Amino acid sequence: MKTAHRLGKLGMENAFEVLAEVNKLKSAGRDVISFAIGEPDFETPANIKQACINAINSNHTHYGPSNGILPLREAIADYISQTRRIPVKANEVVVMPGGKPVIYYTIHALVDPGDEVIYPNPGFPIYESVINFVGGVPIPAPLIEEKNFNFDTEQLEKLITPKTKLIILNSPQNPTGGMLTKQNLEEIARIAITNNLWVLSDEIYSRIIYDGEFLSISSLPGMKDRTIILDGFSKTYAMTGWRLGYGVMNETLAEHMTRLETNCESCTNTFIQHAGIEALQGPQDSVLEMVAEFKFRRNLIVAGLNDIRGICCKMPSGAFYAYPNVTEACKNLGFGTAKELQQYLLHQAGVAVLPGTSFGARNKNDPNEYLRFSYATSQENILKGLQLIKQAIEK
Ligand code: PLP
Repeated sequence: MKTAHRLGKLGMENAFEVLAEVNKLKSAGRDVISFAIGEPDFETPANIKQACINAINSNHTHYGPSNGILPLREAIADYISQTRRIPVKANEVVVMPGGKPVIYYTIHALVDPGDEVIYPNPGFPIYESVINFVGGVPIPAPLIEEKNFNFDTEQLEKLITPKTKLIILNSPQNPTGGMLTKQNLEEIARIAITNNLWVLSDEIYSRIIYDGEFLSISSLPGMKDRTIILDGFSKTYAMTGWRLGYGVMNETLAEHMTRLETNCESCTNTFIQHAGIEALQGPQDSVLEMVAEFKFRRNLIVAGLNDIRGICCKMPSGAFYAYPNVTEACKNLGFGTAKELQQYLLHQAGVAVLPGTSFGARNKNDPNEYLRFSYATSQENILKGLQLIKQAIEK
């Protein structure tokens, strides 16, 4: 029996494959320190869990509106209005089961076969996968290490054609930890306005920043109506398994996205949406504590990586990823690619990381090799992991 042709166009998230490999090694008795997984190692704050329990006990266990319950959409509209300094109404918010569906639905709502979509490379692999799935043409825009993983906007502008429909941004970024500067965002906004493009701004890490202030492209003049903000609860409130996120967009597009949701999941889990209201309106101390701990770990891991021969790591400004350049280390060990180094570190040193190519094919004319480290793991694991890597690389 045959499956649909389009399934062949759907990609994967390599992090899950490496995770399966790590689990296999662990069940065979190997000790593995993992820097592979992209989720906070903290527990969901107690007040949020309690709000969910209360909602279940109050029987908020039925279907709700496809775009989300009104009190949560109002809470999100307030939150986005304050943090992005733009007026947002509840009807411009669409609640979804996670941030990821915002990517899936945005691309389905905006991209026709043959339309071109510009997306960051390296970047979250789901962008390219879904663009391909709908028959769009993925156009990778390089993030440049020397520019602290910002775009060369002159180069980006050259990628625009009459078929370009959408630009995807992600700041702070997965996998580099980089943040787009105000100047970069202003230049991209000008390009989007001049060419009448949509922008999907993936801001899932907007609260996990260490240096400088977060700026959303939606806050820039002329951008609000053409921008879809993706944000959610997974990273900020350590709620990855709850599945709660949202998109913010103009009202007309919000109606289309809602129709997509009605056709797929009917609505996001009702009692979890009540927990989301508590997350946004309750105490924020746990977020501040988590970010302070991530900052400490960031400093620890970047210093440690830069102390290993052949590794050079820029200081990330946000998220919980470090993205060192390992070109020299690969050369010294006789490896052609970071993927070989990743396999060597996993099997020889018992340390799991992801190769840069899990986040998109190498950019044209870029000879460099990278690894991604998630430092959403204890300080003790970071120190031990760094020591094991140093021994394996400098042997
Ligand atoms: N966007 C980026 C850049 C991410 O790194 C992730 C998760 O790793 C997501 C979106 C998805 O978030 P969620 O778990 O809320 O679906």
